[in-house]
Amino acid sequence: MTNNQSKTFDAIVISVRKHKEKDALVKMFTLEHGKRMFFIRNHYKSNHALKSSLLPFTYSTFEGTINEDGLCFVSDYKDSHIFRKIHEDIHLNAYATYLANLSDAAIEDRLVNRELFTLLLQSLRSMNEGMDAEIIVNIFEMNILRYFGVHLQLDSCRVCGSQKEPFDFSTKYSGVLCSQHYHEDPHRLHINPAAIYFSRLFLGIKPEQVEDISIREDNKKAIREFIDFLYDEYVGIRLKSKSYIDQMFEWENALTNLIKKKNEP
Ligand SMILES: [Zn+2]
Repeated sequence: MTNNQSKTFDAIVISVRKHKEKDALVKMFTLEHGKRMFFIRNHYKSNHALKSSLLPFTYSTFEGTINEDGLCFVSDYKDSHIFRKIHEDIHLNAYATYLANLSDAAIEDRLVNRELFTLLLQSLRSMNEGMDAEIIVNIFEMNILRYFGVHLQLDSCRVCGSQKEPFDFSTKYSGVLCSQHYHEDPHRLHINPAAIYFSRLFLGIKPEQVEDISIREDNKKAIREFIDFLYDEYVGIRLKSKSYIDQMFEWENALTNLIKKKNEP
């Protein structure tokens, strides 16, 4: 049996949960063994040797035991990348939590998925480097739709195959319609065509390419609306971390409006 032998693996911490008084259950997305739950004894003792490597979203190379059934264990780590900026910024923290939760929801535990692992790592890295987090989140959301079994046609009209934009989205056709065929679905989404244009573009780009992208605020809003619609309609999960982000924006808007009002003559 090789099961109990120590292994070296790369992993991103996706959640940390307190267990009893001093222990923790840490869920990690490993590159080599998929998502696994690790039991960390005495994690909440201040001098715990692994503490910094087990902060949420931290990426490290670990030594440990991977058990096929039940909990896994870590004994050592090296080359830890703590994304400091994400920890210091409440918005980035909320986004990173959401992406980690989405990764958790999108595939089964123990399934190896290098592509998704890399997408999550690149997203966290790019956010930490100060690239536009909203766009990174959108890229992530669009690219993991397929893990939820959602395959939508966004590049050509479902009726005639035309690639000539503008497009609108039709639930009836599970894809887009060109302006010649808008009438085929009176209940089409009536979304800003820029939302469809960018969402499709996001399917073909990597998070680190966000450096070269800038999107107008009104288009960003339309993209947000469109992707929210896709998740409500086709994915059907409501993550607490997403509701938190939505609320965060509501509070901030309310606050901004309040301040504006106060400053009006
Ligand atoms: Zn058409």
